[in-house]
Amino acid sequence: MRLANKVCLITGAGSGMGRVAAELFAREGARVVAVDVNAASVEETVAGVRAAGGEAVAVRADVTHEDDCRAMVETAVRQYGKLDVLYNNAGIFLEADHSVVDTPLEVWERVQAVNVRGVYLASKYAIPALLDAGGGSIINIASFVALVGCTVPQDSYTASKGAVIALTKSLAVQFGPQGIRANAICPGPIETPLMTSWLLTNPEAKAVRLARIPMGRFGKPEDIVYLALYLASDESSWTNGAVLVVDGGITANYF
Ligand code: NAP
Repeated sequence: MRLANKVCLITGAGSGMGRVAAELFAREGARVVAVDVNAASVEETVAGVRAAGGEAVAVRADVTHEDDCRAMVETAVRQYGKLDVLYNNAGIFLEADHSVVDTPLEVWERVQAVNVRGVYLASKYAIPALLDAGGGSIINIASFVALVGCTVPQDSYTASKGAVIALTKSLAVQFGPQGIRANAICPGPIETPLMTSWLLTNPEAKAVRLARIPMGRFGKPEDIVYLALYLASDESSWTNGAVLVVDGGITANYF
């Protein structure tokens, strides 16, 4: 199994890609600390993992709260003795996030809080635990929208994911010498509740986006989570500071 003996903390594990990651990582032998702001959904994730014979513990934590981030790392170490992988997956994408000229300040700030402060706080408390374990892997979920401009903008989201990429590179060079790798994944549009709850219910918005994808379909959570599996495993022991795009060819597409 590719993650035998690894303890992996996954944020946003109650839904979408985080839930699929918890399930796949557990099947590959990881002990999973499944974290989400929604207690019921993360309990459901853990029940599914256990029903399939895997090992996981559920933690309700809001990644914008410092005490919650400290506590989720403490749970990992108390429950499983160490931490090997921090998978910063929790993120939000709000309907009222448009261009800078018409995005309300509170919407801008909320997106930054979850998508950037959350990665900062989780890393702040996880890195000492990763160092105690002799090194490890940080997997940060950014987005393809941080790499190209978009005429149907979500400016706070885009800026937040750009910050995630920059922070990933900083962590990679700071902590690489101590055995911690940090890499960012930039998914294209993936069919998860974050996308399907509102964006893909609008046929026009859906058609505009689909027309830009050379592969002719939206992504599935597994398209991203298999790359995260590689980054969590020792197979990626020389992959550090990378920004890995999985987007069906969108960012390679001029017309
Ligand atoms: P999702 O289905 O909405 O799952 C995200 C999970 O994170 C939800 O369970 C959510 O809980 C939780 N969460 C939200 N705020 C949180 C907080 N403050 N603390 C802890 N957990 C929190 O989303 P997804 O599509 O799987 O997205 C996962 C990551 O991929 C995100 O970082 C997203 O930005 C990124 N991404 C997604 C796409 C896409 O097309 N889906 C593309 C590029 C990048 P609630 O449901 O209760 O809010």
